Amino acid sequence: MKALYPGSFDPITKGHIDIIERACKMYEEVVVAIMTNPKKQATFSQEKRKEWIEKSTAHLKNVKIIVGSGLTIDLAKRLNIHVLIRGIRAVADYEYELQQATTNMMLDHEIETVFLVAKPEFSFLSSSVAKEVASYQGDIRNMIPEEIIDEVLLKFSKNP
Ligand code: ADP
Repeated sequence: MKALYPGSFDPITKGHIDIIERACKMYEEVVVAIMTNPKKQATFSQEKRKEWIEKSTAHLKNVKIIVGSGLTIDLAKRLNIHVLIRGIRAVADYEYELQQATTNMMLDHEIETVFLVAKPEFSFLSSSVAKEVASYQGDIRNMIPEEIIDEVLLKFSKNP
């Protein structure tokens, strides 16, 4: 069975990677879809985000990375995928995620959302937190996959 993991991944963090690794153990194939969240202004282009996910998931054999558009539920249908993966860090995520999952359920009851709870060490971590630290050239080693740290810091340096 395949699963779809949609998100902004702006940029991908170690928290996202942990969810992808765990989903890869549960499903034959995990399709990571870079989506546009209308509530968030993206910092990085979809191409850059895709490239960074590819680099940091190279060790996983059953991952596919795509750029998606439109409603996640329509993308899932087009790909014939019936499981959506989402991560939950804290209560703050819960309400939003519940609303999304319920809406998707109303749109298509054949599609299930599976929530994976964030590992404690990543439960504080978001792309925004990582970007804030990176903007001061701070230590993002616990936040961003090793493979892309230099590139991310370079993007935030004054003289790239
Ligand atoms: P979106 O804009 O769709 O929320 P994000 O890239 O912020 O996209 O997050 C994608 C998914 O990954 C969401 O379900 C989010 O809760 C989850 N996620 C984000 N950060 C972490 C983390 N540190 N640990 C586990 N899950 C996370």
